Amino acid sequence: MSHKQFEKRILDDSPLSEGERKVLVAHLESCEQCRKLKTGWENSLQLMHSTQPVQPAAGFTARWQIKLQQEQRRKRIVRMRVIVMSSIFLLLISLFAYVLLSGSLNEFLANVITFSTQALLVMTRGISTITTFIDEIPALLRWSLGVFLVGIANMFVILLAFILWKARQNQKEWQRAEIYAEK
Ligand SMILES: [Zn+2]
Repeated sequence: MSHKQFEKRILDDSPLSEGERKVLVAHLESCEQCRKLKTGWENSLQLMHSTQPVQPAAGFTARWQIKLQQEQRRKRIVRMRVIVMSSIFLLLISLFAYVLLSGSLNEFLANVITFSTQALLVMTRGISTITTFIDEIPALLRWSLGVFLVGIANMFVILLAFILWKARQNQKEWQRAEIYAEK
């Protein structure tokens, strides 16, 4: 058998008889070119069988879109915060500049003091009214009312503590969101 025939046999998929196979093996041992052809051919066959078209994982596009939306939302929130903070800052600066430039700082302070004094007066009057009112309440009821008010005050303190704690928690979350958005 010639070398060319062996090449044909290597590239042919049809099964070989026991005798044909033995002859081919014997030729392969002596012919390096056919050995290379055989391994090359087998490798390409293997490659064709194992290679399948690459498809994106299910839901990949949807996941990617959700991620993109989250990212945009975070950026929007951060932008909003920057706008609000700058507005407040600008407002304060303008107010301060106005007070300074118009020379009405004294007037401004006077107004503030007057307002505070009046507020204090109203509060004092209110308290004295309440005190008079309390004096007229029987002692037992007064004590119950006192305990009740202390209880409510405690509740407010606890509520305030909770709100402060929650605010801190939110702030931490915000900071994390900002760090994430900046990335
Ligand atoms: Zn050969």
